[in-house]
Amino acid sequence: MSLIKCPSCQKQMSDKAKVCTHCDSYLNPNEEDLKRMKVLNFRKYRDKMFRFKMLTFTAMAIAVLGLVPMLWTYAKAIDYGFNAQFANHWGIYLVMLGFILYVVVRVFMYLTKRNYKSG
Ligand SMILES: [Zn+2]
Repeated sequence: MSLIKCPSCQKQMSDKAKVCTHCDSYLNPNEEDLKRMKVLNFRKYRDKMFRFKMLTFTAMAIAVLGLVPMLWTYAKAIDYGFNAQFANHWGIYLVMLGFILYVVVRVFMYLTKRNYKSG
């Protein structure tokens, strides 16, 4: 047995091993292995996208948690005739946080999708 370099992660692996112990990529894959790799990659991709989707829901929930009390203040302001200052309302931080999180997650989703399609 000798050590060779894994073609995909460049780490040392045994030349007898069929699968790299570091990155799980197949060495000299046959048709069956390629099929298995495809299924595995799809599952990884699907799980990743699912987690991202959950994160976008979380981001939206955070934004709503900030937005609702702001609207509540706004409604009260109309009732009592004072000026509601949204910039000073604590809800604005939650709205901004939710918005930023949402955008970041969408970027990661886009990159993951592009990566999956090119891979
Ligand atoms: Zn490897």
